[in-house]
Amino acid sequence: MYRKNLRNCRVSQVGAVGQSLPWAVALVVTLALVLAPLASADRTLLKPGWNMFSAQQDIEVGQQVSKEAEQQMRMLNDRRVDNYVNNLGRRLAAKAPGEKYPYQFKVVNDRAINAFALPGGPVYINRGVIEAADNEAQLAGVLAHEISHVALRHGTNQASKASAAQMPLAILGGMLGSNSVGATLAQLGASFALNSILLKYSRTAESQADLMGAQILYDSGYDARAMAQFFEKIQAQDQGGQPVEFFSNHPNPGNRIQSVNQEIDKLGGAGRGYNTNSREFDDAKRDVRSLPAPPAKGQPLQADNRRNDGGRQGSQPEWPSDRFVSFQNSVLSINHPDNWQAYGQGDAATIAPRGGMVNDDNGNQALAYGVIVNIYEPHLDAYGQRLKGRGYGQGSGQGSRQDSHSLLEQATDELVQELRQSNRNMRVVRSHEDISVNGSDALSTYISNESPIGGRETNWLVTVQRPEGLLFLVFTAPDRDFQSYESAFQQMLYSVRTNR
Ligand SMILES: [Zn+2]
Repeated sequence: MYRKNLRNCRVSQVGAVGQSLPWAVALVVTLALVLAPLASADRTLLKPGWNMFSAQQDIEVGQQVSKEAEQQMRMLNDRRVDNYVNNLGRRLAAKAPGEKYPYQFKVVNDRAINAFALPGGPVYINRGVIEAADNEAQLAGVLAHEISHVALRHGTNQASKASAAQMPLAILGGMLGSNSVGATLAQLGASFALNSILLKYSRTAESQADLMGAQILYDSGYDARAMAQFFEKIQAQDQGGQPVEFFSNHPNPGNRIQSVNQEIDKLGGAGRGYNTNSREFDDAKRDVRSLPAPPAKGQPLQADNRRNDGGRQGSQPEWPSDRFVSFQNSVLSINHPDNWQAYGQGDAATIAPRGGMVNDDNGNQALAYGVIVNIYEPHLDAYGQRLKGRGYGQGSGQGSRQDSHSLLEQATDELVQELRQSNRNMRVVRSHEDISVNGSDALSTYISNESPIGGRETNWLVTVQRPEGLLFLVFTAPDRDFQSYESAFQQMLYSVRTNR
């Protein structure tokens, strides 16, 4: 810091103080100290956004997800390369502003150019990044970008926003306050609308990570232009018809290189004599290049990842048992097959067979088989007002009944819209079919979506108006198995009793 500020001051102040050299030097030093806060105020000030999680919960969520991620990914497990990357990463992380997280850097045995960070510190970098980087500063640039996602808490910020859109705040607050991070995660991960939410950054998050990344590089003594140069290089590759995976979870915010360079100007320029390379980088790169190619994707990681279910292919759960047991939460009671398990608290629950929740491409838990039960609070103002005042079934006469029914349709449409925002490839197959749940009017909606285990799945969405909001159940199974599950789903729905 001081080195940079002294240099800046010399350039800008020496002319003004005149010719008397010792005096000039003394003044320059004083000025540098006084000016230090001013100089650092020039950089773009970046702070984490709104978040429902505490910093400690970021760490817990990250640790939990990292365990699962490491079971799903092939790690490089080369001690020399891992040590080098971890040391480099920690040196950079020491310059990250804000909360001090327990950063850990690991290398994934994947040649695709990509990297990702989990809340609270775990950072993963593919060997492809080391192979593609020209020098240490470029590798440091990617690491600094990932560190910034952690420092700016982008993962849990997005999870918070998405949860708020889907669940009543009080309920989610209750879940988070319970200290049961496992339950929270199961809910976040398995919840229909939240797949991969921790890793799909917005473009705003991307620009922030770029700017802070440049600041970290600069403060660590690297040529901060290196990050922009690396992005420029892989962007050219991406546009040249060789898609680069990095851009699939780090969407290009546009003018990436220009904004990074502007930030570098604010910081005082790229800095002459700043580091670009090291011998350790060259050694690590040579090591990685000499390692055998990673096994082809799609091969099972461990033998026990595949289950033998009497000839059924892949990792499918056991068929639903004929014996049902009862589950109850604050909103309803429902019977489910006794070989399924219920997770969740408050209004929200996920009931799934063993193996029904799977890890998707990003290492997050997603529901492939099972049912989600939750309450949705519609945003429609007029709707909310009217509904809260009345509640279905409490009004008198035809008019109010019709009102209630159209409100149920509106609320359902709004929920479907929300789900569509985070599930781009879903489409409604059949909608607004009147059914009855526990004697109340309900709507049945069939949705086709991408299954986390590949292929398409059917989501049978059932919505019922309740005083607390829109009660919804999503019964989910891959298309090829949906018929076999349908009778279990029907039985579950018939067993629903809403609490009065
Ligand atoms: Zn990013």
